[in-house]
Amino acid sequence: MKADPSAMFHDGLAHGELRYLRCRWCATSLPGFSVLCTSCGGADLAWELSSGNGRIHALGSSAVVELDEGFRIRAELAPAPAHQIWQGAPVRLEFASSSDGSARPVFRLTAA
Ligand SMILES: [Zn+2]
Repeated sequence: MKADPSAMFHDGLAHGELRYLRCRWCATSLPGFSVLCTSCGGADLAWELSSGNGRIHALGSSAVVELDEGFRIRAELAPAPAHQIWQGAPVRLEFASSSDGSARPVFRLTAA
C-alpha cells in the first residue's frame, strides 16, 4: 500500500466518509490508521467504507465505538443526557467541523 494510512483516513473524514482497512489475508477489520493487521501481522490491507453505525464499546475520558464492520475507534460523543450513554448503546456517525475547518467524527446516540 503506497498511500500513508493516516492521510487516507483523514482525507476520508474530509469527504464525510469513515474509511477503514480490511486485511486481505484474514479479513479482520482495522481502524483506518493501521499499518499492519493486528490479528495476523499482514500488511496487505484494503480500504473499505464504514456504514457509520455502531455501538459504544467502552466509556472513559473519551468513548470507544465499535462499528458494525467490527473495528473500534476512539471518538467523541455528541452531547446527550448521561442516562442515555451506556456501554452497548447504538450510535451513528456524524461530522462536526473543528475550529480549523477540518471535519471530525462525532457519534450521536440513536433511539434505542
Ligand atoms: Zn490479518
